[in-house]
This record gives sequence, C-alpha cells and structure tokens, in this order.
Amino acid sequence: SLAVRDVHLAFGRHQVLRGADLEVARGGTACVIGPSGSGKSTLLRTINRLIEPDRGDVLLDGRSVLGDDPDALRQRIGMVFQQFNLFPHMTVLRNLTLALRKLKKLPEDEAVQVARAQLDLVGLAHKADVRPAQLSGGQQQRVAIARALALRPQVMLFDEATSALDPELVKGVLAVMADLAAAGMTMVVVTHEMGFAREVADTVAFMDAGVVLEAGPPAAVFEAPEHPRLRRFLSQVL
Ligand code: ATP
Ligand code: MG
Repeated sequence: SLAVRDVHLAFGRHQVLRGADLEVARGGTACVIGPSGSGKSTLLRTINRLIEPDRGDVLLDGRSVLGDDPDALRQRIGMVFQQFNLFPHMTVLRNLTLALRKLKKLPEDEAVQVARAQLDLVGLAHKADVRPAQLSGGQQQRVAIARALALRPQVMLFDEATSALDPELVKGVLAVMADLAAAGMTMVVVTHEMGFAREVADTVAFMDAGVVLEAGPPAAVFEAPEHPRLRRFLSQVL
C-alpha cells in the first residue's frame, strides 16, 4: 500500500501543500482530481521524491520512503508525465533498454528481451526500431509507460498522461492504463478524465489549495459530493 501522510511543502513563501493525505491499497488505483494549481503534480512529485516534503511522510508498505536512495526508489515507483520525456535521438527499444542496463544492470541481451516483451504489452512491438519522432503522441506515451513498467515498479504515478494528446489518441493510452489497473498495479493517476476516474479508480481524491479535501469511492465522490468546493468543481467539469 501507499500512504501520503500530512505532507506540507512550500516553494519559498508559497505554501503549496498544506497537510495532504492519500491512501492507496496495494493493487488499488487512486485518481486525483482538482483545480489547476491545487498541488496535484507537486503531490505526485513528493511521492517519488522529485521534491522533498517539508513535513509529513510517504509510506510504501508501511515504511517511510524518505530515507531511501532516490534512484532506488524511482525503480520501485515509476512515473509518467504529460510530456513523454523520451530520448529523441534513441530508438524506442533503446529508450527502454537504457534504464534496464543502467539501473537494473541487466546485460544487453536480457535488457532487449525485457524491453521487447514490454513493448508488446502496450501494442508497440513493431515500433521497436524507430525513433520517437516517428510515432504519434499516443504511441509515444505508450512507450513512456512501457519504459516505466520495464523496471517492474510496485507503484505507478501518472501526471495528466493524456492531456497533451489529440482527442482520438486519448482512448488508447487510457486503455493501457485501465489494463494496468486491472492487472493489479498500484496507481496514483492525476487526471481530467472523469470517465476514467469513475470507471477505474477505487478512490477519487479531490485536491484543493494543497489538501485532499474529500476522498472516497467514485460513486460517493461523483454522485454525493459533500464539500461545496467539490460540488462546484464537478459542476464545471462534468
Ligand atoms: P495543474 O492542474 O495546472 O497541473 P497542479 O494541481 O498540478 O495544477 P502544481 O503543479 O502542483 O498544481 O502547482 C501548485 C502550485 O505550486 C502552483 O501555484 C504552482 O505555481 C506552484 N509551483 C509548482 N512547482 C513550483 C516550483 N518548482 N517552484 C515554485 N512554485 C511552484
Ligand atoms: Mg499538474
């Protein structure tokens, strides 16, 4: 399981997280929704320690990750961003094998085997030898997901993974994410896709002004929101 407990974070004098809490059961999916600037990306970044919180804790299976080596942690917690961050000068296959060789210390032939198997799972085995620029945005994002998954993480974090995509490409990427959730991956998904949140999430967490103001099963959050700010947000996005 993954737990964020009372996390506070300021950028200079700007208090961005003000005691954020989030719980995701092992194999569960939490979708984080909320207005722009509420701290969703910042919260995700504190989970895999791209940012260190000022106060509070992040627990993976009951153990704080804050003392861990960040590189080791990022193998256990994979992250996919809105911008795919693939290496443009490398083939798709190489984008996957690089981390396997550097971080997992796999020999080349084994890295290639793992990478090809992972590309196959996202439906892109036939694109192994092209460069990212020759792929659609949706295909690039599926490569980014495959690259993170190749490291066999325990948890996957997605920060608006479909927001930069043309509408017709969104479905394919959401389908890969839904498959992953169904296969038992523990996931935290920041998304504007309310349909995805409703269908895939076990927990929907609404962030506002640096806290998770309300969290619960999708039916409760969407059909019976308690907090007026959540009601207002939903009336704008649904
Ligand atoms: P969006 O939906 O637009 O992606 P968000 O909920 O992800 O928004 P964050 O990116 O977490 O919001 O940002 C929360 C606040 O923190 C914003 O006011 C932002 O300007 C500020 N912020 C984020 N990153 C930094 C940074 N590196 N330095 C200073 N301020 C930052
Ligand atoms: Mg964001």
